[in-house]
Amino acid sequence: MAIPSDLLEAARAVRLNAYAPYSSFFVGAALRMRGSDQIFVGCNVENASYGATMCAERVAIFSAVAASSQAKPRLKELVVVGKEIIPPCGLCLQVISEFADEDTLIHLASVEEEGGSYRLSELMPKSFSQEHL
Ligand code: ZN
Repeated sequence: MAIPSDLLEAARAVRLNAYAPYSSFFVGAALRMRGSDQIFVGCNVENASYGATMCAERVAIFSAVAASSQAKPRLKELVVVGKEIIPPCGLCLQVISEFADEDTLIHLASVEEEGGSYRLSELMPKSFSQEHL
């Protein structure tokens, strides 16, 4: 499955805006929510207090949620771009799980190549959810 070119280009472009003075690990993310063609982007934003650092995926998701008036916004698809092909970290997978459904696609790519498309269940088979509360 080819990654939608507009999402891929947006993720690659925003990756260059990453604020990563400590790791030099630049990551970009771009997504669409269900019911809209609007693209939301995010890059990683590091901090001298390392724990305050935020990943590209979560920046994009939180931005999309902030712009949504839906009670439960749903994630249609998300692209993650690193220098090399990287999956979302565990924290981001957990946040993705909050807004994903069984058809949500997570596309992986690097600056030069595509790295496959996955359902959340493939990357995080047993996520913690509101059903566990
Ligand atoms: Zn992450």
